[in-house]
Amino acid sequence: MRKLSIKFKIMLWFSVALLILVVAESAINLLVSRHVLDQSLMERLVTIVNTNCDDIEYFNSDLYAGSSNPLTIKYGEAELKIDDDFCQYYEGVCTALVDSNNNLLYGESPIAIEDSSQFTFTSVGPVKYHGETYFVYERPLSGDMLDGLWIRGVIPEKETTYLLDDIVSLEVWLIPFFAILVLVGGYLITLRSFSPIKAISDAADQIASGKDLTKRIDIGDGKDELHKLAATFNGMFDRLEKSFNMQKQFVSDASHELRTPIAVIKAHSEYALEFASTEEEYKDALNVINRQSNSMSSLLSQLLFFATLEQTASTVELKHGDLSDFVQSLCYDRKLLLDGSRNLKTTIEKGIDALYDESLMSRLIGNLIDNAVKYSSHGSDIEVSLTQTAETIILSVTDKGIGISPENIEKIWQRFYQEDPSRNDSESGSFGLGLSMVKEITLIHNGNLEVESSLGEGSCFKVILPK
Ligand code: ADP
Repeated sequence: MRKLSIKFKIMLWFSVALLILVVAESAINLLVSRHVLDQSLMERLVTIVNTNCDDIEYFNSDLYAGSSNPLTIKYGEAELKIDDDFCQYYEGVCTALVDSNNNLLYGESPIAIEDSSQFTFTSVGPVKYHGETYFVYERPLSGDMLDGLWIRGVIPEKETTYLLDDIVSLEVWLIPFFAILVLVGGYLITLRSFSPIKAISDAADQIASGKDLTKRIDIGDGKDELHKLAATFNGMFDRLEKSFNMQKQFVSDASHELRTPIAVIKAHSEYALEFASTEEEYKDALNVINRQSNSMSSLLSQLLFFATLEQTASTVELKHGDLSDFVQSLCYDRKLLLDGSRNLKTTIEKGIDALYDESLMSRLIGNLIDNAVKYSSHGSDIEVSLTQTAETIILSVTDKGIGISPENIEKIWQRFYQEDPSRNDSESGSFGLGLSMVKEITLIHNGNLEVESSLGEGSCFKVILPK
């Protein structure tokens, strides 16, 4: 059952449900129809018998002597007058006049009731005769000299069956016809509704196998659930493609950055091995190799940081702490390192409690201060401030350095982006990764970043954290 397609399961379920419904409905229909028809048959029988009872009178034979009309029957000493309204056969009902010895005096009866003790059909009752069922109703005549006479009405049950046969034969044709119509309609709708799923799964297959990341699901316009699902998938594929391309770019940039120091190390070591003869020449080569390996080591540690950050981002445990004290002591240490080369000032509101990770926050502030130092001149001011509003905590690092051109300001957060690589030498550990690290760390802290900068005047980076 599990191997069956959803389409088939739906059709199977509908077919079985429809079949049960049709059979149950037909059975109920037949039962109700039979009951209603039997009732109307019996009512007809009673009405005709009662009407015929009024058409028989007892009278003295002299009155109508020599006359053939009205119809008369000899009964005892006198005669019975039977009106010409008396119906012997009407609407399937046979009516007869019988005496108490069960003798048929007048009229018709399709059955012979042999046992006279059966004169009990004062309410309608069934009688079996030659394998067929008949409804019988008898009413005694009352009036002058009419005692011992009965009017008996008989109607075969098959009168109902004729009608039921018509209903059944109508049902036999109509119900399967409508059932087939419903099934075919259901099948077509299911087929049409499920066809986009194939398109979705084909596209997902191609993307999953990495054959074509640009592929999107195209199932036309529509607003049903499947179109919404396709739109959600397409959105997810967009993000996957973007993130895949970013990863690709990252790997290619990283290998590009590593290629230069490796080439330099290779060239200098080969040169030293082949041509260096004095201690001086060996020292020169080793110095170059040392600088390049430092640069590589710095790049590798930054790449490692990114890799670790990506893996642990969702599990980083942010803890409450006094951010004011933390930023203050961090700036104090930095000031010592700067050794008067820049004028690092702090404006820190006391007692700001925040949810943060110490090591990530230290990396974030460190990167912003490093940049402020890197892109400003000797002796200029750098200001670190920490303030809070009712809902946010704002950490800002402002410098009076070279600033960023407005057309590039959006790009500074991209990995390996450097506005002007010639301004940095890779030996200083600048690879265009500092701000993208700041961005990742801010996201982990559920914060936002803002930057204001003007060329030649300086920049202000703001990290806005929720309280
Ligand atoms: P890196 O500083 O290693 O080049 P970053 O990711 O830290 O990489 O910065 C990306 C780019 O943004 C830098 O190359 C620089 O052009 C610009 N930038 C960052 N901070 C500043 C700043 N304080 N002043 C001017 N430009 C800056």
